[in-house]
Amino acid sequence: MTSSTGILSINLAAIQSNWMHVTALLKYGSECAAVVKADAYSVGAVEVAKALYAVGCQTFYLATLEEAAELRRELPLDAVLYVLGGARQGAESSFIDLDLIPVLYSLVAVNQWLDFCGLNGQAYPCALKLDTGMTRLGLTDSDFETLLSLRPALLNPVLFMSHLACADIAGHPSNNEQLQRFQSASLKIKALYPTIKTSLANSSGSFLGEEYHFDMVRIGAALYGINPNPELPNPLLPVINLQLPVLQIRTAEQAASVGYGAEASIDTNTRLAVVAGGYADGVHRSLGLAPTGRVNGVPVFSVGRVSMDSFIFDITHISGNPEYVSVIDTKLTLDVLMNTYKTLGYEVLTSLGRRYQRHYVFSGASNE
Ligand SMILES: *Cc1c(COP(=O)(O)O)cnc(C)c1O
Repeated sequence: MTSSTGILSINLAAIQSNWMHVTALLKYGSECAAVVKADAYSVGAVEVAKALYAVGCQTFYLATLEEAAELRRELPLDAVLYVLGGARQGAESSFIDLDLIPVLYSLVAVNQWLDFCGLNGQAYPCALKLDTGMTRLGLTDSDFETLLSLRPALLNPVLFMSHLACADIAGHPSNNEQLQRFQSASLKIKALYPTIKTSLANSSGSFLGEEYHFDMVRIGAALYGINPNPELPNPLLPVINLQLPVLQIRTAEQAASVGYGAEASIDTNTRLAVVAGGYADGVHRSLGLAPTGRVNGVPVFSVGRVSMDSFIFDITHISGNPEYVSVIDTKLTLDVLMNTYKTLGYEVLTSLGRRYQRHYVFSGASNE
Protein backbone atom coordinates (compact mmCIF):
# COMPACT_ATOMS: atom_id res chain seq x y z
CA MET A 1 0.00 0.00 0.00
CA THR A 2 1.67 3.21 -1.12
CA SER A 3 -0.04 6.51 -1.59
CA SER A 4 1.06 10.12 -1.60
CA THR A 5 -2.24 11.15 -0.04
CA GLY A 6 -4.12 9.74 2.90
CA ILE A 7 -5.92 6.44 2.52
CA LEU A 8 -9.58 6.42 3.41
CA SER A 9 -10.76 2.80 3.77
CA ILE A 10 -14.49 2.37 3.56
CA ASN A 11 -16.03 -0.89 4.68
CA LEU A 12 -19.03 -1.42 2.43
CA ALA A 13 -20.02 -4.58 4.32
CA ALA A 14 -20.32 -2.50 7.49
CA ILE A 15 -22.50 0.03 5.64
CA GLN A 16 -24.74 -2.81 4.42
CA SER A 17 -24.89 -4.21 7.91
CA ASN A 18 -25.85 -0.82 9.38
CA TRP A 19 -28.65 -0.50 6.80
CA MET A 20 -29.90 -3.97 7.69
CA HIS A 21 -29.72 -3.17 11.40
CA VAL A 22 -32.08 -0.20 10.94
CA THR A 23 -34.30 -2.11 8.50
CA ALA A 24 -34.79 -4.80 11.14
CA LEU A 25 -35.97 -2.19 13.68
CA LEU A 26 -38.69 -0.78 11.47
CA LYS A 27 -42.34 -1.53 11.88
CA TYR A 28 -43.89 -3.83 9.33
CA GLY A 29 -44.24 -2.16 5.93
CA SER A 30 -41.89 0.74 6.58
CA GLU A 31 -39.11 1.19 4.05
CA CYS A 32 -35.50 2.10 4.84
CA ALA A 33 -34.22 4.68 2.34
CA ALA A 34 -30.56 5.70 2.13
CA VAL A 35 -29.41 9.31 2.24
CA VAL A 36 -26.30 9.54 0.07
CA LYS A 37 -26.09 13.31 -0.36
CA ALA A 38 -22.72 15.10 -0.20
CA ASP A 39 -21.12 12.10 -1.89
CA ALA A 40 -22.47 9.82 0.83
CA TYR A 41 -21.08 12.08 3.58
CA SER A 42 -17.70 11.96 1.75
CA VAL A 43 -17.34 8.20 1.48
CA GLY A 44 -18.56 7.83 -2.13
CA ALA A 45 -22.21 7.94 -3.18
CA VAL A 46 -21.92 5.61 -6.17
CA GLU A 47 -20.16 2.81 -4.28
CA VAL A 48 -22.39 3.13 -1.22
CA ALA A 49 -25.61 3.24 -3.22
CA LYS A 50 -24.63 0.21 -5.31
CA ALA A 51 -23.69 -1.77 -2.20
CA LEU A 52 -27.03 -0.88 -0.59
CA TYR A 53 -29.04 -1.61 -3.71
CA ALA A 54 -27.43 -5.05 -3.71
CA VAL A 55 -28.91 -5.81 -0.28
CA GLY A 56 -32.38 -4.52 -1.15
CA CYS A 57 -32.36 -0.74 -0.68
CA GLN A 58 -34.60 0.84 -3.35
CA THR A 59 -34.83 4.51 -2.47
CA PHE A 60 -32.05 7.10 -2.29
CA TYR A 61 -31.93 10.75 -1.29
CA LEU A 62 -29.55 13.32 -2.74
CA ALA A 63 -29.27 17.03 -2.04
CA THR A 64 -28.88 18.37 -5.57
CA LEU A 65 -29.81 17.63 -9.16
CA GLU A 66 -26.13 17.19 -10.02
CA GLU A 67 -25.65 14.55 -7.32
CA ALA A 68 -28.77 12.71 -8.42
CA ALA A 69 -27.81 12.83 -12.10
CA GLU A 70 -24.50 11.15 -11.32
CA LEU A 71 -26.15 8.40 -9.32
CA ARG A 72 -28.91 7.84 -11.86
CA ARG A 73 -26.31 6.78 -14.42
CA GLU A 74 -24.95 4.14 -12.05
CA LEU A 75 -28.03 2.55 -10.51
CA PRO A 76 -30.62 0.20 -12.03
CA LEU A 77 -33.68 2.01 -13.36
CA ASP A 78 -36.01 0.82 -10.63
CA ALA A 79 -34.06 2.74 -7.97
CA VAL A 80 -36.11 5.73 -6.80
CA LEU A 81 -34.16 8.98 -6.39
CA TYR A 82 -35.36 12.02 -4.47
CA VAL A 83 -33.70 15.44 -4.60
CA LEU A 84 -33.98 17.18 -1.22
CA GLY A 85 -33.02 20.59 -2.60
CA GLY A 86 -35.99 20.60 -4.98
CA ALA A 87 -36.03 21.71 -8.62
CA ARG A 88 -34.57 25.08 -9.50
CA GLN A 89 -36.51 27.06 -12.09
CA GLY A 90 -35.40 25.99 -15.57
CA ALA A 91 -34.09 22.61 -14.38
CA GLU A 92 -37.47 20.86 -14.19
CA SER A 93 -37.10 18.95 -17.46
CA SER A 94 -33.91 17.30 -16.19
CA PHE A 95 -35.96 15.76 -13.40
CA ILE A 96 -38.27 14.17 -15.94
CA ASP A 97 -35.48 13.07 -18.28
CA LEU A 98 -33.57 11.45 -15.42
CA ASP A 99 -36.62 10.16 -13.55
CA LEU A 100 -35.89 12.11 -10.38
CA ILE A 101 -38.42 13.31 -7.84
CA PRO A 102 -38.00 16.82 -6.42
CA VAL A 103 -38.84 17.55 -2.79
CA LEU A 104 -40.95 20.74 -2.85
CA TYR A 105 -40.78 22.77 0.35
CA SER A 106 -42.62 26.04 -0.29
CA LEU A 107 -45.70 27.25 -2.13
CA VAL A 108 -43.40 29.06 -4.55
CA ALA A 109 -41.66 25.78 -5.34
CA VAL A 110 -44.97 23.94 -5.72
CA ASN A 111 -46.38 26.58 -8.06
CA GLN A 112 -43.25 26.59 -10.15
CA TRP A 113 -43.45 22.80 -10.48
CA LEU A 114 -47.15 23.04 -11.35
CA ASP A 115 -46.37 25.62 -14.06
CA PHE A 116 -43.97 23.15 -15.60
CA CYS A 117 -46.53 20.34 -15.32
CA GLY A 118 -49.07 22.65 -16.97
CA LEU A 119 -46.80 23.40 -19.91
CA ASN A 120 -46.57 19.67 -20.59
CA GLY A 121 -50.06 18.72 -19.53
CA GLN A 122 -48.60 16.10 -17.18
CA ALA A 123 -48.98 15.47 -13.45
CA TYR A 124 -45.32 14.70 -12.78
CA PRO A 125 -44.55 13.10 -9.41
CA CYS A 126 -43.17 15.23 -6.61
CA ALA A 127 -42.61 15.05 -2.86
CA LEU A 128 -44.00 17.62 -0.43
CA LYS A 129 -42.14 18.63 2.68
CA LEU A 130 -43.91 20.15 5.66
CA ASP A 131 -42.20 22.23 8.33
CA THR A 132 -43.24 20.70 11.65
CA GLY A 133 -41.02 22.83 13.84
CA MET A 134 -37.49 23.03 12.50
CA THR A 135 -38.10 26.24 10.52
CA ARG A 136 -35.71 25.24 7.80
CA LEU A 137 -37.13 23.99 4.49
CA GLY A 138 -40.80 23.06 4.52
CA LEU A 139 -44.32 24.28 3.78
CA THR A 140 -45.78 26.33 6.60
CA ASP A 141 -49.11 25.26 8.09
CA SER A 142 -50.91 27.94 6.11
CA ASP A 143 -49.13 26.98 2.85
CA PHE A 144 -50.19 23.42 3.51
CA GLU A 145 -53.84 24.34 4.19
CA THR A 146 -53.89 26.48 1.05
CA LEU A 147 -52.59 23.60 -0.99
CA LEU A 148 -55.13 21.17 0.42
CA SER A 149 -57.99 23.53 -0.28
CA LEU A 150 -56.85 24.27 -3.85
CA ARG A 151 -55.98 20.65 -4.61
CA PRO A 152 -54.43 21.53 -8.00
CA ALA A 153 -55.36 19.07 -10.73
CA LEU A 154 -51.78 18.51 -11.87
CA LEU A 155 -50.35 18.02 -8.39
CA ASN A 156 -49.14 14.45 -8.02
CA PRO A 157 -47.46 14.12 -4.62
CA VAL A 158 -46.09 10.62 -4.10
CA LEU A 159 -44.38 11.35 -0.79
CA PHE A 160 -45.20 13.58 2.17
CA MET A 161 -42.32 14.26 4.52
CA SER A 162 -40.96 16.34 7.36
CA HIS A 163 -37.70 16.43 9.30
CA LEU A 164 -36.93 16.16 13.02
CA ALA A 165 -34.78 18.79 14.69
CA CYS A 166 -33.75 16.95 17.89
CA ALA A 167 -34.00 13.25 17.11
CA ASP A 168 -30.58 12.46 18.59
CA ILE A 169 -31.88 13.52 22.03
CA ALA A 170 -34.46 10.81 22.71
CA GLY A 171 -36.24 12.65 25.52
CA HIS A 172 -36.44 16.04 23.80
CA PRO A 173 -40.01 17.37 23.84
CA SER A 174 -39.71 18.61 20.22
CA ASN A 175 -39.74 15.04 18.98
CA ASN A 176 -43.22 14.36 20.22
CA GLU A 177 -44.48 17.79 19.17
CA GLN A 178 -43.19 17.28 15.64
CA LEU A 179 -44.63 13.77 15.61
CA GLN A 180 -48.09 15.05 16.55
CA ARG A 181 -48.03 17.75 13.92
CA PHE A 182 -46.84 15.35 11.25
CA GLN A 183 -49.42 12.71 12.19
CA SER A 184 -52.33 15.09 11.90
CA ALA A 185 -51.04 16.59 8.63
CA SER A 186 -50.52 13.07 7.24
CA LEU A 187 -54.15 12.18 7.91
CA LYS A 188 -55.28 15.26 6.02
CA ILE A 189 -53.15 14.64 2.99
CA LYS A 190 -53.91 10.91 2.90
CA ALA A 191 -57.60 11.78 2.79
CA LEU A 192 -56.96 13.53 -0.54
CA TYR A 193 -54.16 11.35 -1.88
CA PRO A 194 -54.75 7.86 -0.44
CA THR A 195 -51.63 6.26 -1.95
CA ILE A 196 -49.18 8.96 -0.84
CA LYS A 197 -46.31 7.71 1.31
CA THR A 198 -45.29 9.44 4.53
CA SER A 199 -41.82 9.88 6.03
CA LEU A 200 -40.58 11.71 9.13
CA ALA A 201 -37.48 10.08 10.60
CA ASN A 202 -33.80 10.46 9.83
CA SER A 203 -31.28 8.04 11.39
CA SER A 204 -31.80 9.06 14.99
CA GLY A 205 -35.56 9.31 14.49
CA SER A 206 -35.62 5.68 13.36
CA PHE A 207 -34.48 4.71 16.86
CA LEU A 208 -37.26 6.64 18.62
CA GLY A 209 -39.90 3.95 18.17
CA GLU A 210 -42.39 2.60 15.66
CA GLU A 211 -44.66 5.62 15.68
CA TYR A 212 -41.83 7.58 14.02
CA HIS A 213 -41.42 5.13 11.15
CA PHE A 214 -44.46 5.89 8.95
CA ASP A 215 -44.03 4.46 5.42
CA MET A 216 -40.34 5.28 5.11
CA VAL A 217 -37.33 6.40 7.12
CA ARG A 218 -34.43 8.28 5.56
CA ILE A 219 -31.11 7.33 7.07
CA GLY A 220 -27.75 8.91 6.39
CA ALA A 221 -25.57 9.10 9.49
CA ALA A 222 -26.46 5.59 10.71
CA LEU A 223 -25.19 4.08 7.46
CA TYR A 224 -21.78 5.60 8.15
CA GLY A 225 -21.67 4.35 11.73
CA ILE A 226 -22.52 7.59 13.53
CA ASN A 227 -24.18 6.86 16.87
CA PRO A 228 -27.92 7.65 16.58
CA ASN A 229 -28.19 8.37 20.30
CA PRO A 230 -24.86 9.53 21.72
CA GLU A 231 -26.08 8.86 25.29
CA LEU A 232 -26.29 5.11 24.62
CA PRO A 233 -23.75 2.58 23.33
CA ASN A 234 -23.47 2.71 19.54
CA PRO A 235 -25.41 -0.21 18.03
CA LEU A 236 -23.82 0.35 14.60
CA LEU A 237 -20.55 -0.73 13.07
CA PRO A 238 -17.72 1.71 12.39
CA VAL A 239 -17.23 2.17 8.68
CA ILE A 240 -14.04 4.09 7.96
CA ASN A 241 -10.33 4.09 8.64
CA LEU A 242 -8.15 7.02 7.73
CA GLN A 243 -4.38 6.68 7.47
CA LEU A 244 -2.03 9.49 6.59
CA PRO A 245 1.30 8.68 4.95
CA VAL A 246 4.49 9.88 6.63
CA LEU A 247 6.35 12.20 4.26
CA GLN A 248 9.40 12.80 6.41
CA ILE A 249 10.83 11.66 9.74
CA ARG A 250 13.23 14.08 11.39
CA THR A 251 15.07 14.26 14.70
CA ALA A 252 15.63 17.71 16.19
CA GLU A 253 19.34 18.57 16.40
CA GLN A 254 18.53 21.36 18.84
CA ALA A 255 15.56 22.85 20.63
CA ALA A 256 13.34 24.41 17.95
CA SER A 257 9.91 25.73 17.13
CA VAL A 258 7.50 23.78 14.96
CA GLY A 259 5.12 24.95 12.25
CA TYR A 260 3.46 28.24 11.31
CA GLY A 261 3.51 30.93 13.93
CA ALA A 262 6.24 29.05 15.84
CA GLU A 263 3.51 28.16 18.31
CA ALA A 264 4.98 24.88 19.50
CA SER A 265 8.48 24.11 20.64
CA ILE A 266 10.42 20.88 20.99
CA ASP A 267 13.59 19.74 22.70
CA THR A 268 16.74 18.27 21.20
CA ASN A 269 16.29 14.70 19.99
CA THR A 270 12.52 14.93 19.61
CA ARG A 271 11.56 12.73 16.69
CA LEU A 272 8.88 14.10 14.39
CA ALA A 273 6.83 12.58 11.58
CA VAL A 274 5.47 15.00 9.00
CA VAL A 275 2.30 13.51 7.51
CA ALA A 276 0.39 14.26 4.30
CA GLY A 277 -3.04 15.69 5.05
CA GLY A 278 -4.07 19.09 6.33
CA TYR A 279 -6.96 21.44 6.68
CA ALA A 280 -7.61 21.12 2.94
CA ASP A 281 -8.45 17.48 3.75
CA GLY A 282 -10.75 18.21 6.66
CA VAL A 283 -8.04 17.81 9.28
CA HIS A 284 -9.19 20.45 11.72
CA ARG A 285 -8.13 20.63 15.31
CA SER A 286 -11.71 21.52 16.24
CA LEU A 287 -12.93 18.29 14.64
CA GLY A 288 -10.51 16.19 16.66
CA LEU A 289 -8.71 14.72 13.67
CA ALA A 290 -5.49 16.57 14.21
CA PRO A 291 -4.60 16.25 17.90
CA THR A 292 -4.05 12.50 18.13
CA GLY A 293 -3.23 9.57 15.93
CA ARG A 294 -1.99 6.02 16.34
CA VAL A 295 1.06 4.22 15.02
CA ASN A 296 0.67 0.44 15.18
CA GLY A 297 -1.84 0.95 17.94
CA VAL A 298 0.33 3.34 20.00
CA PRO A 299 -1.08 6.86 20.53
CA VAL A 300 0.88 9.81 19.13
CA PHE A 301 0.20 13.52 19.56
CA SER A 302 0.59 16.30 17.07
CA VAL A 303 2.78 19.37 17.51
CA GLY A 304 2.17 22.85 16.13
CA ARG A 305 -0.48 24.12 13.76
CA VAL A 306 -2.02 22.08 11.00
CA SER A 307 -0.97 23.34 7.55
CA MET A 308 -2.99 23.05 4.37
CA ASP A 309 -1.41 19.81 3.21
CA SER A 310 0.62 18.51 6.13
CA PHE A 311 1.08 18.49 9.88
CA ILE A 312 3.41 16.96 12.39
CA PHE A 313 3.32 14.21 15.03
CA ASP A 314 5.77 13.68 17.85
CA ILE A 315 6.94 10.06 17.45
CA THR A 316 9.84 10.15 19.92
CA HIS A 317 8.40 7.14 21.76
CA ILE A 318 7.84 5.10 18.59
CA SER A 319 10.58 2.79 17.39
CA GLY A 320 11.33 2.29 13.72
CA ASN A 321 10.13 4.42 10.84
CA PRO A 322 6.36 4.26 10.50
CA GLU A 323 4.92 4.66 7.03
CA TYR A 324 1.47 5.76 8.17
CA VAL A 325 -0.27 7.41 11.10
CA SER A 326 -3.93 6.45 11.63
CA VAL A 327 -6.24 9.28 12.59
CA ILE A 328 -9.50 7.28 12.42
CA ASP A 329 -9.47 3.57 13.20
CA THR A 330 -11.11 0.92 15.39
CA LYS A 331 -9.99 2.69 18.58
CA LEU A 332 -10.06 6.28 17.35
CA THR A 333 -13.62 6.02 16.08
CA LEU A 334 -15.98 8.86 15.21
CA ASP A 335 -17.61 8.21 18.59
CA VAL A 336 -14.32 8.72 20.41
CA LEU A 337 -13.71 11.94 18.50
CA MET A 338 -17.23 13.09 19.32
CA ASN A 339 -16.83 12.38 23.02
CA THR A 340 -13.31 13.72 23.35
CA TYR A 341 -13.47 16.79 21.16
CA LYS A 342 -17.23 17.52 21.17
CA THR A 343 -17.32 17.20 17.41
CA LEU A 344 -20.13 16.01 15.19
CA GLY A 345 -19.49 12.81 13.24
CA TYR A 346 -21.40 14.49 10.41
CA GLU A 347 -18.89 17.33 10.24
CA VAL A 348 -15.85 15.10 10.50
CA LEU A 349 -17.04 12.94 7.60
CA THR A 350 -18.31 15.61 5.26
CA SER A 351 -15.14 17.68 5.75
CA LEU A 352 -12.92 14.90 4.42
CA GLY A 353 -13.26 15.99 0.82
CA ARG A 354 -11.94 14.39 -2.32
CA ARG A 355 -8.18 14.22 -2.02
CA TYR A 356 -7.89 10.93 -0.18
CA GLN A 357 -7.36 7.70 -2.03
CA ARG A 358 -10.47 5.71 -1.29
CA HIS A 359 -10.15 1.99 -0.71
CA TYR A 360 -13.38 0.04 -0.66
CA VAL A 361 -13.29 -3.13 1.35
CA PHE A 362 -15.85 -5.76 2.27
CA SER A 363 -14.83 -7.10 5.61
CA GLY A 364 -16.53 -8.78 8.52
CA ALA A 365 -17.50 -7.32 11.84
CA SER A 366 -14.76 -4.71 12.30
CA ASN A 367 -13.32 -2.06 10.06
CA GLU A 368 -9.79 -3.38 9.77
C1 LIG B 1 -29.70 14.76 5.55
C2 LIG B 1 -31.11 14.41 5.72
C3 LIG B 1 -31.50 13.16 6.23
C4 LIG B 1 -30.49 12.18 6.81
O1 LIG B 1 -30.22 12.55 8.13
P1 LIG B 1 -29.27 11.65 9.06
O2 LIG B 1 -29.35 12.33 10.37
O3 LIG B 1 -27.91 11.71 8.45
O4 LIG B 1 -29.83 10.29 9.07
C5 LIG B 1 -32.84 12.84 6.24
N1 LIG B 1 -33.78 13.71 5.80
C6 LIG B 1 -33.45 14.94 5.33
C7 LIG B 1 -34.53 15.86 4.89
C8 LIG B 1 -32.11 15.34 5.30
O5 LIG B 1 -31.80 16.56 4.86
